[in-house]
Parts: sequence; C-alpha cells; structure tokens
Amino acid sequence: MDMNANSSEFCVEMQNIHKFYGLVHALKGVDLKVRRGEVSVAIGPSGSGKSTLLRCINQLENISAGRIFLKGELQGFTERAGRFHPLTPGQIAAQRRLTGMVFQRFNLFPHMTALENVMEGPSYVKGWPKEKARAKAHDLLDRVGLGGLGSRYPGQLSGGQQQRVAIARALAMDPEVMLFDEPTSALDPELVGEVLEVIKNLATSGMTMVVVTHEIGFAREVGNHLIFMDQGQVVEEGYPREILEHPKNPRTIAFLSKVL
Ligand code: ADP
Repeated sequence: MDMNANSSEFCVEMQNIHKFYGLVHALKGVDLKVRRGEVSVAIGPSGSGKSTLLRCINQLENISAGRIFLKGELQGFTERAGRFHPLTPGQIAAQRRLTGMVFQRFNLFPHMTALENVMEGPSYVKGWPKEKARAKAHDLLDRVGLGGLGSRYPGQLSGGQQQRVAIARALAMDPEVMLFDEPTSALDPELVGEVLEVIKNLATSGMTMVVVTHEIGFAREVGNHLIFMDQGQVVEEGYPREILEHPKNPRTIAFLSKVL
C-alpha cells in the first residue's frame, strides 16, 4: 500500500496532529477533515492553537507527530516501511502551492502596486508571461471588488482594501484550499463587512476553505462545519448552527457566553 497517498474524499485531512514549540504543546492530537468545497470554521479562545493549526496545514510550521494529507497527498514527508523521510525544499514548496493563506495583517509588498502584488506569484513562481499574469490579476481584483484600484500602492488603500488585495494575491496561485487566519481582526469595525463579503462569495463559488475567525455571525452563516478549540484540542465540532445554539461542552458554553 502506498503510504504517501490516501484515497479519501477529503481535500484536507489532519490525523492526530501534535505540535510542540519547545515545551509548549500547542496541538494535542487534532483531527480535521474538510471535503472539497466545504468551509470549515475554527473558533476558540486566544492561544488555543487555531493559528498553529493553519500554519501546520501549509507547512509554515513542522508538525511534531501525525499526518496531514491535502487532496490525498501526504504533506512534508514520504513514508517508506514505516519511516518518515522529509521531502526536499523544492517538493515542499510545490506542496505549499496547494494552499493560499491570508493573514491577520495584509502582508503586501509596500513598494508594489495592488496589481503588481497580485501578479507576483504567477509571474515569478509560475513563470507566466507578464501580459497573462496582468490579465489574471485584473480579473482577480475585479472579483474582490477592486477593479480600477490596481495602480494604487498598499499605503493608498484602506485596511479592508489591502486585505482584499491579499485575498486576490493568494487566489492568483490557484490554490486548492484557502486558509484564513483571523482575516478581519486587524481591521476597523466598519471595514470588516467588505472583507467578509469577499470571503463569503468565495465560499459560494465552491472554494474549499479553513477560516479562523472571531466573527461568530460569519461562522454561522458561511461555515459548513465548525470546530471549537481549547488548549490545543478540538473540544467540540459539528454543524455551526447546532453548536452555536446548543453547545454541549462546558468549555464551548463558557466561551460562547463571553462572545455572543
Ligand atoms: P491561537 O491562534 O488560537 O491564538 P496559537 O496557535 O497562536 O493560538 O498558539 C497556540 C499556543 O502556542 C499558545 O500557547 C502560543 O503561545 C504558542 N505559540 C504559538 N506560536 C509560537 C511560537 N512561534 N513559539 C512558541 N510558542 C508559540
């Protein structure tokens, strides 16, 4: 049996993931399954491991134990005769292109226009001709509602607009899965809605996503699956409306009573 692939229908599958930062046990045996086209939303108190979960999926962090499959392909390692061998940096870079990540702070290149920020991946990583990359970047900026603002530099855009450029930039690499790490928590309240709207439209278009958020209304409306994390574990999971309206675990109940 090939241990480096599984035939699962899941786009993302995490099996018993542990992550240590030194002595800090940040993930304690986390399982997560996300089907193609599904939006999985993670909520939970600060420090519960939500960001680490995303960072392990896209190999920004090395896992300490467990297995992660994206589209059935084992991430980060090959397994032969029960032993794990790390992939080469080139192989890992190729796997990382399966995911697009959007961070809390829109990490755009300040010296490049919005359009150039979005073109960067297709031009330099995929080696596309400039005109093809430019056309794609235009389409993506239109898609996030920023058609016409492509020539602005990040410093000339609002936080909400910058975050939408960051989403377009992640989409430019045609990822299989989009990962959002509290994409609206650095924004002024009046700018949150426009970013959530773009993410919601992506969900409607069938993009597979894992979204870490504090926006409970968004989790309820857009999520197909909700996980509540506490102290490095998935404490409760299921259908968002069910969990948000009828939480069962005392820790979920305590958390929701503070944020709802
Ligand atoms: P959340 O996203 O839910 O706020 P994190 O995944 O950021 O949680 O953090 C989980 C735990 O891991 C916390 O105890 C945090 O302090 C710790 N942690 C996160 N990143 C690092 C790091 N780079 N080095 C050491 N500890 C870290």
